[in-house]
Amino acid sequence: MPRALITGITGQDGQHLAEFLNTKGYEVFGLVKGQANPKAELIQNEFPFVELVSGDLTDLPSLIKAVEHAQPDEVYNLGAVSFVAMSFTQAELTANVTGLGVLRMLDAVRIVGGHSGNRIRFYQASSSEMFGKVRETPQTELTPFHPRSPYGCAKVFGHDITVNYRESYDMYACSGILFNHEGPRRGLEFVTRKVSQAAARIKLGLQDSIVMGTLDSKRDWGYAGDYVKAMWLMLQQDEPDDYVVATGETHSVAEFVERAFAEVGISNWQDYVQQDPKFYRPAEVDLLIGDATKAREKLGWEPEVDFPTLVRLMVQNDLRIEAAKAGLR
Ligand code: GDP
Repeated sequence: MPRALITGITGQDGQHLAEFLNTKGYEVFGLVKGQANPKAELIQNEFPFVELVSGDLTDLPSLIKAVEHAQPDEVYNLGAVSFVAMSFTQAELTANVTGLGVLRMLDAVRIVGGHSGNRIRFYQASSSEMFGKVRETPQTELTPFHPRSPYGCAKVFGHDITVNYRESYDMYACSGILFNHEGPRRGLEFVTRKVSQAAARIKLGLQDSIVMGTLDSKRDWGYAGDYVKAMWLMLQQDEPDDYVVATGETHSVAEFVERAFAEVGISNWQDYVQQDPKFYRPAEVDLLIGDATKAREKLGWEPEVDFPTLVRLMVQNDLRIEAAKAGLR
């Protein structure tokens, strides 16, 4: 039975990946931080097949112990401070967890797996936020980085150190440059879930309006369930490499809002949306659109869920949750 250790097991991608690896017959270990982490209990209830291991990306000895315990064939480093807006207010923490955390995890793999760490395959969750103020459109594996947030800067470090350890120590280490990926498990702080939840609550009469930041940003939004398959595929190749994972389509925040409201039968969505500068960011990423040709050709990866289906999936899920919470169904 192959063994995998996932950091960030309590996040959206960690959950999708754990589920996916379980169907592939893996023994799955998940790193959880903190004392009585409330999310750990949720994971244990929903995914009883996951063995939780205590550790923290800011604490190398705990990572070494976790890798020693799990004896993984594959390590997926998904743990991070992942919310761009928060990275501006807690920049140092973001650099430490999202940036240096990658270095620590790579070192833990090398220390436990032998000098080259060769025995253990490593996946780093890189991000389209590294492209930031984009130098070319669409973005590929060769597009230069120009991050626009402490989160983006930390992800650039994580990406570069993964490539550097691969080249320096001959590690099987891959970076997946994943564009935004969403779904019913997305955190409520991210714009897609905030909007799908608001549309559902407004429809059910539980909320009057939604307050947002810019509606002009454009993102290449895919479905998280599709994207974790690309992570796994990257670790099944003969040689380690880096891949862009994206749909190749871009949509504005306004378009997402329009579709989400249409899904609950509201066409005059503008009447329900207010804007507040408190949601504006000190520097913004205006447009992202990825070219996943390499992933398609080398990994045989294709996204299955398109944009309209993604929005529908999220809104219908929130309608169910909100109705149940309010005792309406
Ligand atoms: P990001 O691409 O990782 O920053 O993902 P987010 O979902 O947090 O944000 C996507 C885009 O939506 C960014 O350009 C945000 O500035 C924009 N946006 C507009 N209003 C909001 C809001 O209320 N919350 C969030 N999270 N983003 C918003």
